[in-house]
Amino acid sequence: MRSDYDIVIIGGGMVGASLAVALIPAAERLGLSIAVVERFPVASAETLNYSPSYDSRATALAYGSRLIYEQIGIWEQLNQHLCPISDIHVSDKGRFGVTRLNASDERVPALGYVVENHWLGQVLLNRIQQSDAGMIDLLTPAEVTDINYHNDSMQVLLQLGEESHELQTQLVVMADGGRSELRERMGIGYQQQSYQQHAIVTNISPDRPHNNVAYERFTDTGPMALLPLEDEAGQHRMGLVWTVPDDKIDEVLALSDSDFMACIHERFGHRAGNFIRVGGRHSYPLKLTLADEQVRKGLVVLGNAAHALHPIAGQGYNLALRGVVALAAELINAREAGQNLGDLSHLARFAEQMRGDQHKTIGFSDKTMKLFSNDHWLLGLGRSAGLQLLDSCPLAKTVFARSAMGLDMPTPNLN
Ligand SMILES: Cc1cc2nc3c(=O)[nH]c(=O)nc-3n(C[C@H](O)[C@H](O)[C@H](O)COP(=O)(O)OP(=O)(O)OC[C@H]3O[C@@H](n4cnc5c(N)ncnc54)[C@H](O)[C@@H]3O)c2cc1C
Repeated sequence: MRSDYDIVIIGGGMVGASLAVALIPAAERLGLSIAVVERFPVASAETLNYSPSYDSRATALAYGSRLIYEQIGIWEQLNQHLCPISDIHVSDKGRFGVTRLNASDERVPALGYVVENHWLGQVLLNRIQQSDAGMIDLLTPAEVTDINYHNDSMQVLLQLGEESHELQTQLVVMADGGRSELRERMGIGYQQQSYQQHAIVTNISPDRPHNNVAYERFTDTGPMALLPLEDEAGQHRMGLVWTVPDDKIDEVLALSDSDFMACIHERFGHRAGNFIRVGGRHSYPLKLTLADEQVRKGLVVLGNAAHALHPIAGQGYNLALRGVVALAAELINAREAGQNLGDLSHLARFAEQMRGDQHKTIGFSDKTMKLFSNDHWLLGLGRSAGLQLLDSCPLAKTVFARSAMGLDMPTPNLN
């Protein structure tokens, strides 16, 4: 096993794997060597094998993320099993305010796309495994146990099966998720705020086609999103994300399927049809986490390890993906200029470039969540009036839609 890489990416999740894929053309052109270290085993990916799942988590991808996937060369494959969102319907339970967004009004083929996480993971890992031999190594199942500064480079200690290994590298990218243990080990502080809520995630079947409509509904217990999923033969599926206060979570998880669907109907109404089947329910504690430092000499913190958001606006991964391309562009420039990839100058430029986007996206998710989780009648009235006003003002709607689609800022060019 080789022990020297230009870049070591810790975590082969959605963000770490996306960075490796974004760097493949540069790896081949500029001779970059990259290791991706992932704790969990991944299947060898000679062929892509999609099987629609009833219990799979799904992610809403902004239209801007499609443009990124086109640039990094996986859009065509990903698109084989995606569900486009043509309309978004936003409403507030028990109040008059409604806003509707429509793809043709915004002059885009779709406002976004819904992808099942297992399919996105397969496409990313398959692309890595099929890159030119020797450029990108996927080390798995392997766990990074420590990172040290060693002379002018970084040393990564890892456990691969029974064996311990040491890797030397110019740059470590920590994409090890929201519960990053390495963040603590490296003494990187973070701000964390619990929303005292859990997200319940499941798939649910209406008795009629969803017509590519995504719904966001604000309810007494918290926001609820219904995302259209690719249809199985004759079976319509939607991904449900329902935010529930911590003290209600056990009760909701313990409901029978029919009581659970009745609970959803009570809050959501029948605008998407009657729910006739529901999959397994999974729950996730919701916290806002923001790392105090995202770059150091030789080190970048990326994805959920850097910032984990409330899922209300479906922006966490989309924001991270914009970070992935911005970082990849800086690393390519640095390599072409013959600089060390761990130099702080270009890493700081990357952090600076992402600061505004992170501030805006995190602030939007956090404020929306707080505004729509407060049941005070006056706030409710203002909220409904706001939704109604937005609905009646095409210009404001376009500004809002472009921001949600990630189109209000330029995408870095990797070519
Ligand atoms: C309910 C819910 C719904 C969401 N919906 C959306 C949405 O619709 N749209 C959107 O944009 N975002 C959404 N998000 C956010 C999105 O899921 C996250 O932004 C994304 O998963 C972050 O990916 P990541 O790779 O940073 O972290 P993870 O997915 O946590 O990946 C980290 C990886 O690192 C590995 N790892 C950890 N430690 C080590 C170690 N020491 N050594 C080796 N490997 C290690 C782990 O095994 C894991 O594979 C949602 C989140 C939730 C909770």
